[in-house]
Amino acid sequence: MVQKIALEEHFLAPGYEGYWRSTVGNVAPELASDLLARLTDFGEMRLKSMDEAGIARSVLAIAGPGVQSERDVATATRAARAANDYLAGEVQKRPDRYSGFAHLAMQDARGAADELERCIRELKFCGAMVNGHTNGQYLDHPSLYAFWERAEALSAPIYIHPTDPVAPSPALEGVAGLRRATWEWGFETGSHALRLVFSGHFDRFPGAKVMLGHLGETLPFLLWRFDSRAKLYGIKLAKAPSDYIKQNIMVTTSGMCSAEPLNCALAALGSERVMFAADYPFESAPEAGEFLDHAPLTESLRTNIAFNNAARYLGLNASC
Ligand code: MN
Repeated sequence: MVQKIALEEHFLAPGYEGYWRSTVGNVAPELASDLLARLTDFGEMRLKSMDEAGIARSVLAIAGPGVQSERDVATATRAARAANDYLAGEVQKRPDRYSGFAHLAMQDARGAADELERCIRELKFCGAMVNGHTNGQYLDHPSLYAFWERAEALSAPIYIHPTDPVAPSPALEGVAGLRRATWEWGFETGSHALRLVFSGHFDRFPGAKVMLGHLGETLPFLLWRFDSRAKLYGIKLAKAPSDYIKQNIMVTTSGMCSAEPLNCALAALGSERVMFAADYPFESAPEAGEFLDHAPLTESLRTNIAFNNAARYLGLNASC
């Protein structure tokens, strides 16, 4: 079993259950109760699952949307800070097994930048996880430039995690099985990342570091098409869209236990840009671990995806 660092592993801090409940409205109550028990546990259940999957270290992040769905900015700011302090306390109890991603009230760009800096410098977190749009505002919005300036200066990776869209697409109307994780979130989150690419965000912030789960939310599959259509439509960017995706975006295997998309991501982005994640407790960590242990890869590539890429990218041996 190859040793792994897992990068999209969720928890809930006190006071966060209400925000999270909106995402499990279509999940059976007993399953939701089990998820809640796992999300609030930092002991036996989580560590057992990690051990079974060969996960040496989990980088923990709030299960979304968290305070990003909060309408009151002061409440959001206060609750995000409390969640980060809470996580830092749990990490401190098991610094050998846990690290953290910051949770941020993106409603306030400067406040979020300050909290990101505090989390990186004082709490030794690895970056931040942002749960998609914040009350309809996406990360390319000009009001967030102050946030990105700071993230770039800190060299902090920003993991864009799926969330519900502002409004469901009419294309999904009446077919319940397509909502959320089946299809809706992939389109929503892939679109979010592509907004950054096509809006020139990475020309403005060339050092910005973005992470995506689900092997890149279908982006690796479509690189040629993005470049070809950007040319056709006369999109003014310093580089081809695929260049930004290859240079500014890293992807994880969260929720994707099949070799075909893994091979696509590796071929499209390069072997140094793919990392492991299980998406505990929403996916089975042992299943994710077993997939990577047996995927048709050379041993050195397997080790890089499982551990080395994350350790290098997040500076896990040094600070967080
Ligand atoms: Mn997740």
